[in-house]
Amino acid sequence: MIPPGNRPGNRGFQGRAMEKRVVIIGAGLAGLTAAIKLARKGFKVSVYEKHGTPGGVARTIEDRGFRFDTGPTWYLMPEVFESYFSSVDRKIEDYLDIVPLSPSYKIFFEKDEPVVIHREMEKNITLFDSLEKDGGKKLQGYLKDSKFKYEAALKEFLYRDYRGPFDFLHWPLIRDGLRLNLLRTLDNHVSRTFSDHRSKKIVEFNTVFLGSSPYKTPALYSLMAHVDLTIGVYYPMGGIHELAKALYRIGREYGVEYHFNNEVKHIIARGGKAEGIETAAETVKADIVLSAAEYHHTDTALLDRKHRNYPDLYWKTRIMAPATLLLYVGVKKKLPKLLHHTFYLADDWSVHFNEIFNTKRWSGNPCYYLGCPSKTDPSVAPEGMENLFILVPLAPGMDDHDSVREEYADRILRHLETLIGEEFASDIAVKYIASQRDFITNNHYYRGTALGLAHTLSQTAIFRPSHRSFRLKNLYYTGHYTQPGIGMPMAMIGSELVCDLITRRHA
Ligand SMILES: Cc1cc2nc3c(=O)[nH]c(=O)nc-3n(C[C@H](O)[C@H](O)[C@H](O)COP(=O)(O)OP(=O)(O)OC[C@H]3O[C@@H](n4cnc5c(N)ncnc54)[C@H](O)[C@@H]3O)c2cc1C
Repeated sequence: MIPPGNRPGNRGFQGRAMEKRVVIIGAGLAGLTAAIKLARKGFKVSVYEKHGTPGGVARTIEDRGFRFDTGPTWYLMPEVFESYFSSVDRKIEDYLDIVPLSPSYKIFFEKDEPVVIHREMEKNITLFDSLEKDGGKKLQGYLKDSKFKYEAALKEFLYRDYRGPFDFLHWPLIRDGLRLNLLRTLDNHVSRTFSDHRSKKIVEFNTVFLGSSPYKTPALYSLMAHVDLTIGVYYPMGGIHELAKALYRIGREYGVEYHFNNEVKHIIARGGKAEGIETAAETVKADIVLSAAEYHHTDTALLDRKHRNYPDLYWKTRIMAPATLLLYVGVKKKLPKLLHHTFYLADDWSVHFNEIFNTKRWSGNPCYYLGCPSKTDPSVAPEGMENLFILVPLAPGMDDHDSVREEYADRILRHLETLIGEEFASDIAVKYIASQRDFITNNHYYRGTALGLAHTLSQTAIFRPSHRSFRLKNLYYTGHYTQPGIGMPMAMIGSELVCDLITRRHA
């Protein structure tokens, strides 16, 4: 469990009504999380959101009996969600029906037989024994180290905001630094234990959740293996958007005002202070402004140049997480070869990583992820049908005009048919494609990235963009660009950190 003393809200401050008005820009998971926390502390909170529903990238598309989650599909680190709910005096089970997935997921390789990853560790040990000599023993050793890192991260790292190098290099982190492998890459770390390409890929693929590659991610993030292999994979019945709905409901219970279809156009600032925001419809005064919209958008589009936190050069030199081609497909029959979560991993996946991060090409043989929540949840597809979510990571900043992405989507669907040995093109009832330009127009995401800033060493912890403005004393930022980073649990923890900061400075 998360040590109670670690939670920002539990570090001594007792809430009291303050009647100060906070305007939050954006009702994604980060904005929703922050709104509840601040309202609970007595702030008057209003959230302004561009779209008509809460959730940000965790929205839905509904069509002909299918309901697709538009963004996140993996519910990992359940204790972070549970702990958040209890920190705002709610029981998660009163809002969400979270079920464990068993088996956890399946991986198709290019040439070798597919493998299934189980909840039960004995089965995974047997699997790793079949992949390489002493594979099971190696897996156990690897996971022991992952667990140490995960627990160290929860205790010392994730729930901590950094203001300077001395904050980062505090004693426990220095003491444990060597064991945390801060300076080695994940691939280097994994190669010291495993030799078979399949074992390596099973413990490395999760870098996709960090918007990075095993060749760029610090070995600290081998903690992710503990997350998916030991803690396991979960699913909120009804879909991931149920989480956004639950947070929205709690926010309303705490008196948060939500203004949907109300895009913020400008943050008004004078004399070193943010004075409020302007939308197309209204001007709103605020004592504190918290932007939970995309960081680059806030800095470059909502603020006057002199009030930006970072110069253009900063953004130009960032390593962006991949963009994606997303396919939401309703199929009029069952596809028995798929599990709720399935991956296709190319044998030489370094080519795909290179195409994403270096050469910037549409990949010829991409690895991809396939969600099929209808395996668990009958509410997301009509009876006897499947709900498919396909995600292909791609280089950000590429031209994705209609003909390119439709041709690419067809190619992926044909590849999938071959992979599972079943044709379904003529059974497609519903198909939507989204890619880079949708992320730009819908979410203002920089260069069409789907996840923001990749988790490389130079973009981790102290090196992530600041939660507070360097120019305006009452302007703050949250969301997956800030510490601790990408993913639903991280975006929520980031908001807890910023709310703690706001409460300490403005209570
Ligand atoms: C395709 C995809 C798959 C993913 N898969 C997973 C997964 O399986 N598991 C996982 O844990 N994480 C996953 N993630 C990551 C996770 O979803 C994100 O890190 C997290 O949801 C980000 O939340 P956020 O609130 O910071 O940002 P957002 O969701 O982008 O929310 C920002 C909000 O601000 C609004 N906004 C922007 N500009 C303005 C403006 N000017 N005025 C008003 N409102 C504005 C936007 O409309 C949006 O609602 C995935 C993300 C994507 C895109």
